[in-house]
Amino acid sequence: MAEKDYYKILGVSPKASKDDIHKAYRKLAKKYHPDRNKGSDVAQERFKEISQAYNVLSKPEKRKKYDELRNMQQHGGMGGAGFEDFFSSGRTRTHSGSADFSDASFSDIFSSIFGEGRSAGPGYGTRERGRDVRSRITIAFEKAVKGGKVSVRVPRRSECVRCGGTGAAPGTRSDICPSCGGRGRTASGRGNFSISQACQQCLGRGRIIHNPCSICHGNGSTDVEADIDVDIPAGIEDGQKLRLKGMGGEGSAGGETGDLILEVGVGKHPRFTRNGLDLYGKVEVSMVEAVLGTEKEVDVIDGRVKLKIPPGVQPGRKLRLKGKGGRAKDGRRGDHYVEVKVKIPEKLTEKQVELIKKFDAANQ
Ligand SMILES: [Zn+2]
Ligand SMILES: [Zn+2]
Repeated sequence: MAEKDYYKILGVSPKASKDDIHKAYRKLAKKYHPDRNKGSDVAQERFKEISQAYNVLSKPEKRKKYDELRNMQQHGGMGGAGFEDFFSSGRTRTHSGSADFSDASFSDIFSSIFGEGRSAGPGYGTRERGRDVRSRITIAFEKAVKGGKVSVRVPRRSECVRCGGTGAAPGTRSDICPSCGGRGRTASGRGNFSISQACQQCLGRGRIIHNPCSICHGNGSTDVEADIDVDIPAGIEDGQKLRLKGMGGEGSAGGETGDLILEVGVGKHPRFTRNGLDLYGKVEVSMVEAVLGTEKEVDVIDGRVKLKIPPGVQPGRKLRLKGKGGRAKDGRRGDHYVEVKVKIPEKLTEKQVELIKKFDAANQ
């Protein structure tokens, strides 16, 4: 079994006290510290092992589980609930860039048992789906009714085109960070405590970039604004959301691209309102036109049409122009309704007053 024996690594007995383990770790960590062994890969490997071993054995909870695992190994019986528990306890945290030192140790144990290679550092080289990008636009009333293309400017985090996401200038290489061994985090011992923090040398990247890419400054990705054409379906409602597949953030290491979720607001129209496919407008007629009937040109969504106003039309009546409303995706059309406004004269000449009185008298 290739699994590392953490007790052997620290040179202590499996029954060693917490204090003994701490002392052994201090001694070995000093001896193999990368600062004292510049350029030595062996020392670096040893230092990593020592840190891993200490990180597990110094914590009663982890040590207990490690002991269980070790016993199982020694008795040849792998598998079963014991190991499941052990492994799952190391996986309760997320792996998205914030994995801490304890995570790394557990996954190292896992990988050394199963021989599975893990990513070098947090987020480095792991295949992840790009995030969904949310954005909101407001489109013109007519565009919402008729549909069509609109150009939308969206923020996108995109793999740097110059370095292809490595963060290193093209033609140069990057190395695994010697301080953190590629984890992006380091543990420093203070008394009985071990503090995990972002690696100072590589700033959490896990790799040392000697010549940072001039475009992304070593990040491997850039924030860009992209103009994309979006097809607005005819009849879209205010507040409706469109999901545009593959228009969101780029995935890492070949992961799928995220989606763009676009919330569409619909602007107001100076003369029309809308309910589904039906549109509503107004027309103003004089008192006499209302009484005698007339014909008026009115605006509809596709232009102007003639509207017959019947004699004796009542104020507020809605006249229907069939099939002159909005258009559905399947080609169905709504109607356009025109509400009749009757203008009552506010000032009359003496002559008009006389005529109105005569008209009224004739009515009886
Ligand atoms: Zn770059
Ligand atoms: Zn580092």
